[in-house]
Amino acid sequence: MSEKTQNPFARIPAVDKVLLALEKCDNLPPLPQPLITDLVREEIEGMREGVKAGKTEVGEFEVTVEVIRGKLESLYRSRIHPVINGTGVCIHTNLGRSPLQEGVVESLTSVGQYYNNIELNLDSGERGKRGGFLEKCLATLTEAEAATVTNNCAAALILMLKHLANGERNEVIISRGELVEIGGGFRVPEIMEASGARLVEVGATNKTSLADYEKAIGPRTGMLLKVHRSNFWMDGFTHEPTTEELVELGHEHGLPVVEDLGSGAMVMTNDLAPIPHEPTASEVLKRGVDLVCVSGDKLFGGPQAGIIAGRADLVAGIKKEPFFRALRCDKLILTGLQETVLEYLHPQGGEKPALPLIRMLSASVEEDLRPRANAILKALSGIDELESGVVKTIARCGGGTMPKAEIPSLALDLLPKNMGLPKFAKLLREGQMPLMGYVADDRYRIDLRTVFPEQDKIVLENLLDIFRKV
Ligand SMILES: *Cc1c(COP(=O)(O)O)cnc(C)c1O
Repeated sequence: MSEKTQNPFARIPAVDKVLLALEKCDNLPPLPQPLITDLVREEIEGMREGVKAGKTEVGEFEVTVEVIRGKLESLYRSRIHPVINGTGVCIHTNLGRSPLQEGVVESLTSVGQYYNNIELNLDSGERGKRGGFLEKCLATLTEAEAATVTNNCAAALILMLKHLANGERNEVIISRGELVEIGGGFRVPEIMEASGARLVEVGATNKTSLADYEKAIGPRTGMLLKVHRSNFWMDGFTHEPTTEELVELGHEHGLPVVEDLGSGAMVMTNDLAPIPHEPTASEVLKRGVDLVCVSGDKLFGGPQAGIIAGRADLVAGIKKEPFFRALRCDKLILTGLQETVLEYLHPQGGEKPALPLIRMLSASVEEDLRPRANAILKALSGIDELESGVVKTIARCGGGTMPKAEIPSLALDLLPKNMGLPKFAKLLREGQMPLMGYVADDRYRIDLRTVFPEQDKIVLENLLDIFRKV
């Protein structure tokens, strides 16, 4: 027996030796050296632990190097970079929610690269209001007295609670039917408790009456909160008071009424696609609520932010909260939002705002999607190892918005003959520009509604590449 097989530790290669071998690989991902060195050290250390525990058998040196190279590749792949969305879910939280408009992105380049007037009044040369113009635009768009922005909608809710429910009056009345989880760890009750507010739950999951709210109002009540059911719906034996009724009750008792709207629609969604109407911030404010908050990167179609709109005195008070400073947005976000809001304010006479999300939602199946699908299919017809067709699908708004909206769509319907669907899906995720489709009816589907038309040729290239390699 050789010495190597007697001593299992002897087969574990030295870190330096692996690093040297990796340097000679011509397909090493362009990672910085310290990350490569760290990963190799961890892998070798892991091998040692594995051998010690009797769980690992160390293979040939070349195999070890190739395994480590694969791990470097997957580390490199995990950096944030563009992905093609073939899922048919327009606001996909795992894929960055709303894509930004090209002009919006250009404004980020110039503002980010150079200095800017974020807190400078160019008329007086003195210190100016941070995001003052944006706040003005948002107030105009939502038809509110005032508006401001924070890090996200969760932060907006926390700030509103901190300002309106504190000290002797820290109780917030909310219906049991609205203690929802939005996803990604956002649970309304937990957020409320974290803000220092005390939750007073009223009613039952499916039924809450105005009298339930009324009975709960006491000397410690700070505000009434309504949370929009943005990511689910209730049907059947249900009841809840209207916003108008809640507003009337709150105001009779001198209490502010706040609505967390979440989704952030600013246009009539039912004009975009054959989907339901989603309440807009201005509609909710017209019903009399004192403040409303919405997300910047859901149906609004901008960067991650929370928008608060409503009564001027309350918005001003929120901006004075010490927490506001901790949750404020950076110059790039403020710029991105500003340019997005301008896209809403510019169009005239029924024109739609020129935002990618709005264009995506309103694309026509037969006029926009079908010709693209046919062009891709034609180019794929030469691949013998791939069965390809087109299928009618249902696309979704996603991102926890409008769960009932079923947007008619069109997808490439693919079946590779020489590999399983999980392998096919993995290869598509490993491309230069990763592609995320989905599996349904034993086929791999790429929904074209969420693929940008200019990405069609990349989709095609990715598919051709896979069969060229195999
Ligand atoms: C999505 C959502 C939130 C959270 O918004 P973020 O901007 O992701 O923080 C809060 N409330 C409702 C009703 C939502 O739909």
